[in-house]
Amino acid sequence: MTTIDTARLAGMFTAIADAISTDKDRLCALDGVIGDADHGIAMELGFSAARDAVTALDAGATEPSTLLNMAAKSFLNAVGASSGPLYATAFMRGAAAVKGKTALDEADAVAMLQAMAKGIQDRGKAEVGEKTMIDAWAPAAEAAGEALAAGKGLAVSLEAAADAARTGAEATKTMIAAKGRASRLGERSLGHMDPGAASAVTVIDAIRKSLAE
Ligand code: ADP
Ligand code: MG
Repeated sequence: MTTIDTARLAGMFTAIADAISTDKDRLCALDGVIGDADHGIAMELGFSAARDAVTALDAGATEPSTLLNMAAKSFLNAVGASSGPLYATAFMRGAAAVKGKTALDEADAVAMLQAMAKGIQDRGKAEVGEKTMIDAWAPAAEAAGEALAAGKGLAVSLEAAADAARTGAEATKTMIAAKGRASRLGERSLGHMDPGAASAVTVIDAIRKSLAE
C-alpha cells in the first residue's frame, strides 16, 4: 500500500519543476503560435518558486495540506500570466482535499488530482473542448478516478491519467480556442496544440513518476 508523506510531496514539486524546465522552450514556442510566447517562462517561474518554498519546509513537522497551500501561494506570487491563479487554485483545492491527513493513501492521491482539476475548472470556467489546459486536466482526473474505482493501484491509475492527458492535449489541435488569450485568434487557433494543455501533460506525467513508485 502506497503512502505519500510530506517529503514525497516535496519531491513531487522537484520532479515537476525539473520536467517543466526541460520543457520550457517547447512550451514558449507553442504559446508563441497562439498566445504571447511566455507560457514556458511562466510555468518555470511558478514551479521553481513552489519547489523552493516546499523544499524549505520541515517535512517532518508539516502536513501535506500545509505544503500544498504553500505551493499555491508561491506559485501565485511568482506568476503574472493566467496560469498563475489557475495552478494556485489547483494546489489550494488539492490541499483542501487532503486536509488533516499526515500522509496520503492511493485514494487520497487520486482525490488530490481530481480536486486540482476541479479547481482549475472552477477558477477558469473552461469546459472541455474550449482548447485550454482543462482538455488535458479533466480527462486525466476522470481516468484516474475510473482506474482506481476499477481496483487498479496508484501507478496504473496515474498512468491512465497521463495517457488521457496526452490524448486530450493532442485533441486541442482540432479545437478553436474559446477561453484565454488564444480565443482572440478564433479559427486561426485551429491546427495548433494549446500550450497549457501541453504543459499539463508534463505536470501530470511528473506527478505520475514521482508518486507511483
Ligand atoms: P497568458 O495567456 O496570460 O500568457 P500563459 O501563457 O501562462 O498565460 O497560459 C496560457 C494557457 O492558459 C493557455 O494555453 C490555456 O491552456 C490556459 N488558460 C487560459 N485561460 C484559461 C481558462 N479560462 N481556463 C483554463 N485554462 C486557461
Ligand atoms: Mg502566454
